[in-house]
Amino acid sequence: MSPSFNDSSCPFCGVSAQTTKISHGDRDVFLCSNSECGDSEISRTAMKRIKDSFDIRSEYQGKVKLCKADNKVLEITVSSNNELQSACIERR
Ligand SMILES: [Zn+2]
Repeated sequence: MSPSFNDSSCPFCGVSAQTTKISHGDRDVFLCSNSECGDSEISRTAMKRIKDSFDIRSEYQGKVKLCKADNKVLEITVSSNNELQSACIERR
């Protein structure tokens, strides 16, 4: 079954994005329509922190652009020592 996308807004820039849940709902994928931004894949625990912090959002907005330049997606998760971690990953 292919993922079904819903309309939402990008957690980084607030512009409209298509979103879908993956990994049994533990992660959200955002396909941002803003050409100055990019696509991301964010775990549910990481999303809570991103929503709570303007600084974190601005930090990752820079990173999401770097990933996009490589045609990749910014993945943000929470590591086992409870730190936010990010990486550019291949598109699914
Ligand atoms: Zn965006």
